[in-house]
Amino acid sequence: MANKTIGHVKCLECGEQSEVRMSEKNNFAYHVCPGCGNQSFCRSRGCSDGLLNRMEPVGQAGKDEPVKEVNDGFFN
Ligand SMILES: [Zn+2]
Repeated sequence: MANKTIGHVKCLECGEQSEVRMSEKNNFAYHVCPGCGNQSFCRSRGCSDGLLNRMEPVGQAGKDEPVKEVNDGFFN
């Protein structure tokens, strides 16, 4: 099983676009930064909802990048 990248947030560490994904295991959001390798995992619904609210969803205006399947080894 692979988790989907559903949006992006600015990485707090390097400022690059960090990829927001949903864990299929616990249905919490997390993000992984391809720029610096930072990984942030939500362990509560409040954290996950907060991340989902502040991210830029994939497929919005100006974002042509389609939702893509990724297999990052987490929760799979
Ligand atoms: Zn980063």
